[in-house]
This record gives sequence, C-alpha cells and structure tokens, in this order.
Amino acid sequence: MSTTTTPTAVPAFPAATITGYPRIGRRRELKKALEAYWAGRSTREELETAAAELQLATYRRLVELGLGAQDSSLPAEFALYDQVLDTTVALGAVPSRFADLADAEGRLDLDASFVLARGDAGRAPLEMTKWFDTNYHYLVPEIGPRTPFRATAERLVADVRRAAEHGFTVRPVLVGPVSFLLLAKADDDAPAGFDPLQRLGDVLPVYAELLAALDAAGAEWVQLEEPALVADQPVPADRLAEAVREAYTTLAAAAERPQLFVTTSYGSTGSLLRPLAGSGVEALHLDLVKGALPTAEELELFRGEDAAVLVAGAVDGHNIWRADLAGRLDQLEELARAGAQVSVASSTSLFHVPHDVAEETQLDPVLRSWLAFADQKVGEIVTLSRGLAAGRDAVAEQLAEAAEARRTREGAAGVRDAAVRERAASVTAAEIGRAPAEVRRAAQEGRSFTASGPLPLLPTTTIGSFPQTPEVRAQRAKVRSGAVTPEAYDRFLREEIERVVRLQEELGLDVLVHGEAERNDMVQYFAEHLDGFATTEHGWVQSYGSRCTRPSILWGDVSREGEGLRGEAITVPWIGHAQSLTDKPVKGMLTGPVTILAWSFVRDDQPLGETANQVALALRDEVLDLEAAGIGIIQVDEPALRELLPLRREDQPAYLEWSVDSFRLATSGVRDETQIHTHLCYSEFGEVVDAIDGLDADVTSIEAARSRMEVLTDLEAAGFSRGIGPGVWDIHSPRVPSQEEVEQLLGRALQHVPARTLWVNPDCGLKTRGYEETKASLVHLVAAARTAREGLDGSADGAREAGVPLIVQHG
Ligand code: GLN
Ligand code: ZN
Repeated sequence: MSTTTTPTAVPAFPAATITGYPRIGRRRELKKALEAYWAGRSTREELETAAAELQLATYRRLVELGLGAQDSSLPAEFALYDQVLDTTVALGAVPSRFADLADAEGRLDLDASFVLARGDAGRAPLEMTKWFDTNYHYLVPEIGPRTPFRATAERLVADVRRAAEHGFTVRPVLVGPVSFLLLAKADDDAPAGFDPLQRLGDVLPVYAELLAALDAAGAEWVQLEEPALVADQPVPADRLAEAVREAYTTLAAAAERPQLFVTTSYGSTGSLLRPLAGSGVEALHLDLVKGALPTAEELELFRGEDAAVLVAGAVDGHNIWRADLAGRLDQLEELARAGAQVSVASSTSLFHVPHDVAEETQLDPVLRSWLAFADQKVGEIVTLSRGLAAGRDAVAEQLAEAAEARRTREGAAGVRDAAVRERAASVTAAEIGRAPAEVRRAAQEGRSFTASGPLPLLPTTTIGSFPQTPEVRAQRAKVRSGAVTPEAYDRFLREEIERVVRLQEELGLDVLVHGEAERNDMVQYFAEHLDGFATTEHGWVQSYGSRCTRPSILWGDVSREGEGLRGEAITVPWIGHAQSLTDKPVKGMLTGPVTILAWSFVRDDQPLGETANQVALALRDEVLDLEAAGIGIIQVDEPALRELLPLRREDQPAYLEWSVDSFRLATSGVRDETQIHTHLCYSEFGEVVDAIDGLDADVTSIEAARSRMEVLTDLEAAGFSRGIGPGVWDIHSPRVPSQEEVEQLLGRALQHVPARTLWVNPDCGLKTRGYEETKASLVHLVAAARTAREGLDGSADGAREAGVPLIVQHG
C-alpha cells in the first residue's frame, strides 16, 4: 500500500498466522534477563541483547512450525514488560506524574518505562488491571485533557529492521486507538466527567505517524488490537460505533501506511462489526472460540473485492486442549463458501498458554496427547489453513490424530467418575445455604473461639501467607529433587509454622494464621492434592511483567485424593498443628472453587458451573474436617471472582449465579458459630457487590489501602452489613505504612461501617514481602487498631448494647 514502492500487487494477508506468542521464553529467559537487569546484575545492553535473541528464536521456531518467514505471519509483539505499556510509550502518552522522565522530545526510554511499570521511591507505578477475562495484568494508561501524544516509533522500527536482517518479514503490533483509550483511566488532572475516549481525535494522527514510520521500515502489515470492542463499555453504543468508524476510516485513509489488520479477541464485536468491517481496513480478526460465528448477514460484510480478509480465530489461544480440527474446518469452509476470503489464526494471543507440550516429559503421555500448548496450536493453525486451501485429504492424517485424541479423552478413566457425579447431582438446595446472617452473628459474637476468650472489637488478622523466605523455597526445591527427605521437610514446615505462630503472638494479632509455608501457590497446592488435576513442570505463563504462574490442568472429575469419595484432609495437619501451639484462634485457609478454576486450565467438555461444584464439594469436605479439628474461623479465598466475570452484561447473571453457588456449596456445611471468611483482592466492587453479598460469608477482607478506602462507599451504598476487613496496608509495595496512616485509614473506615463489623488486616497475603517490612508494618497495624479501639468510647456503648464484647487485650 506504500505509495513510495512500485505499484505491484499489495501483499496478501498470510493464510495462517497467530495474533501473539508467549514472550517469556521456554525457560523463562525474559524473566531472568529482566530481573537480573533490575537487580543491577546486568547492563541495559545485555538485557536488550537477551530480548533480541529471544525474538529471533521465536521467529525461527514459528517458521519451523510452518508459518511463513516472509509473508507477515510473524507478529512482532515483544513487550519487555507489557504490551499496553509499549503502546503508551509508542504514543508518547506520558502521564503527568511521570513527565520529568521524558527526554527533550517527550519520549520515554526503556528505563523510564520501567519506572512507569514499577514505580520509584516517590511514585506509585501505573495501576495494574486484569486484561479482559484472563489472569494477565496490564498497566493502565493515565490520560487527561492535556496528556501529550508524540509518535515514538524507534523500538517498533528497530524490531522490524532487525527481523529483516535475519530474513523475517514481521508484522508489528500495537493496541488500537479505541481500545487504548477505553483501557485507560482519567488522570489526576482530569475534570469530573472527562473520559479518555474524548482524546480520540488527538491520538489518531500519532497512530498515522507510527504507521508511516513502520511503512518506511518495510512493514507490509500492522496489527492493531481492539479487544475492548468485545466487552460492554461504560460508553453509549452509538458513541462507541462512531469512535470505531472515525478511528478506522481515518487510519485507512492515511497516505503512507502498511495494510491494517485489526484483531478482536475474547468475544464477539456484536454491533461494532459493521463499522469495523466497513472502515477500509484490509483484514479483520474474529474470535470464533469465545465469540460467535458471523451470521449470514454479517458475512455479507466480507464479500466482494474490497472486503476485508476474514481472519478466523479458530484455535483457542486461552486454553490448552487440542482443537476439534474437523469441526473447525467445517466452520472455515462455511465462511469461505459464503464468499469470504478466509485466513486462519488463534482466537487470542498464545501468550496465555505455555510454550510446548513436548517439554512436559513427566506428564502422563495419555493426558499429554490431549493437549496443545502454543507450539502445538501453531501446528493446528497450519493444518487448518492447509485443509482449507488444499482440501481435507491433504491433512487427513492430522484430522484423524486429533479425532483420536478427543475420542480417548472422552472415554478415559477419571474423566468421568460415577461417584463424584452422583454426589454432585444429589446436592439439595438446603445444602447450599446457612442460617440467616443475624442468627450466625449472634452465635459468633462473644464466642470464645479458643481459650483466649472472645475477640476484641476491631480484631486484627492477616490474609494467610507469611513471607516465603529463600529458605522455604530452597527446602521445597530440595524435597522435590530428593535432596531432603519428606520427613525432614515435614519437620522443617512444622518449625516454620511454629515460628510464624510465635511471631504473631508477639505482635499481638488477634486471629492467627499458619502462614501457608507448605504452599508453592494457592491453587497449585490444592491441585496437587485433588484427583482430576495434573501439574506441569515448565508450563509458565506471564501474569504481569516478569511474574509468571504455572496453571494446573483440571482434566477430570474432582475429589480429594485418598481412599473413598471424600478422600483425605489436605490442610488439617498444618492448620491443626498451628492451633495446637497457641491459645489464640488460628484461621483455616482454603482457596475457593472459582479461583481454583480461574487460575487453572479447565476442562472444556462440560459447563464451568458443573466443574465448580465438584471442586466445591471437595472443599466442603475440607471445611468440615477443619471445623471438626477445632478450627472455628475458616477463610475461603476468592480473589478471582471478578476475573471470570463475563465481558458482556447479559452473560453476567448466569456466571454470578453458579460462581456464588459454588462458594456457598463449599462453605455452608458448617455450624452457625463457625465463622466463614472470604478474601477478594481488588478494589472495584461496583459490578459484583451483590455477588459478594451473595457469597454469604461472615467476614470479607478486601483490598482498600491504595484507593484510601474508597471501596467502602460502594459497600455502604449497597447496604453491605457483614463483617468487613478493608486492607489498611498495601502489600504490593515494600513501603511500611506508619501507625498514623493506618489510624487514619481506620478512621475513614469507621465513618462508613459500624465498629462491630470492622476487621483490621493488610490488603492481601504477605508471601511476596520480606520479614523486616512485615514485622514493622504489623507492629503499626496492631498499635493503630488498639488506638482506634480506645477512641471508640461513644460507639463502643452501641457495640456493647449490640452484644459485642469489649475485651481489648489478651496475653
Ligand atoms: N490466603 C492467600 C495468601 O495470603 C490469599 C492470596 C490472594 O488473595 N491472592 O497468600
Ligand atoms: Zn489478595
């Protein structure tokens, strides 16, 4: 399309492509390179070299797997930290509070971008938010009426040139203008009512400049990602449609530009398909896994010579099961028969899945044969595209193999367990409810959970984990490698638990925890003790920046491991041990069913709600075992409740119903006087506040320190009357909050919630913190709670009338 080249035919869109690939590296090379650089163990040049090598290794691998080296099928998406941050930098959209980091031309270099990502001594980093309904977190751009926009194309151009030197024609990737602004939040300088989409007209010329620079560098196609178009937005539909039309007709009209490929992952674009397809972009990606197949009427948009290529996101980029290739091929053929020019792609970037199943040599080979990680998915895409072009016979072998894998999976032992299914099917409504909250409150208030007597007002506690020291990690690695015996490891953990208990006693906390030293990860630990799950060795996926998680694979029917349907207790030995060491109550810690699902790769052969109920029943067994072991307070964490919330409002009620029910199924077997806690780690509650109420937990701890307790206004407005622990210490940063600061936060909290329902705790678990900051912060937290109690004279009378004991101190 470039006006400067000879008027040969415009390069066609590649027949097979992916919209993105894991960036972290097969052995987490990027993580290591980043962390070495941040720790001062390597130079910037070494970091850049490592990143460039990783890029080239990816291109070589993708070509080996069947993508074209020179047809623009290789996406050049290599965010070192986050792809939204990279677009922020490319647009020169420097948030006002970071303005001093920009150079004379208003540009942020790599080090400056790391400050946006990670903060510095005087500045909090950009906010981090979940990327659609995934467990990836992006950095939220801050846009105000005066945020500057200046094209900063150097890194994008350098990537294209470097690839070309090695023989690869790659396709640069940017977050598209509409999604970029929709993903942003208004900055601190913005007046009330400002929304970043108002800056669309200002940002489009900068996109046009970036396109021109990429065109000059030799890029033939550019990928603009518009995933925000598949989610309901707080912007009226007609305004959104107009924004889409304006954005893409403007960019399509740019004089010097590569051809435009717009992606729409994670769902259907609905009514926005028309303005997008009609804008003049040359290729348009549709997610056929999460989204619907286009209707006959919509397919009209893809007919005719000038129509966009329909890039069918036919292979799931977000889960790890082998595709039903024959079924997908049927769909692709149907699209082609309708007159569309069809290319085949992944439904989302493949960075949600690990690199390569072949690395998992420890996995049961039968299970392994059901799986497709990123590299296998590229193979599936190549197969589908060949099948579409050359007919089924050309790929008969691959289709047969895929069908065989699906057939064995359906019939394999453990995928369907009659006893588990029968139990789940016979759950009655009575089993998923407890006595009314007031009845339980009466039974719990004034109860002596242990010999130390009833809890004081404003009880202090933590969210569960204590710092995971290098020593804890080293022991875990040693028991895995056999360097330490299971018995010695067990002894080590018991001592660690004792240390944590003694520390909490010294600090004067009211409700103790055992510290979770035995857990590598709050989901994987349970996965390792439940039938129906498998864990991987190298299956890391990026969570944010250099941080990765290793999701477990939920492949079969779930129950606790061990003899019989109910199996054996998982956490009772550890938590029971902690309780045996102290008179203070120890809170039992479990991970909830929704979070276990959200942070695992989950079977796709039955509704999520059914799987959730199986997990819930296993947890219910665990909750009852804890109660029987004398644990009177049990916390079931659901930090991911909001993450799985469907992107379209119309789909949300059904989700909230099954997710809330599964939590209740897990927790409602206990007696009235047993106190159920839950923990949710985010602070935007607006959309799920009713669901949080529906969980029917006696006490809910939430994140609140960073937003200075703003969340309490939401909860108050919704009439939330249960126990509430708004975090008073932001554990995401190494900063130690002062006692005064915690007192102030408690003071604010007390303006919104009655003292009798308020708990005092950090924002989240402490596993990523060090002991020094943990101790210092908890000293302040406990002292602030004591001061706040003393200041409660007036309301304390009210509390006393309400039957709340006013014992302030024990031991
Ligand atoms: N109980 C967990 C912990 O403290 C909760 C972690 C979380 O909310 N993500 O680590
Ligand atoms: Zn949390």
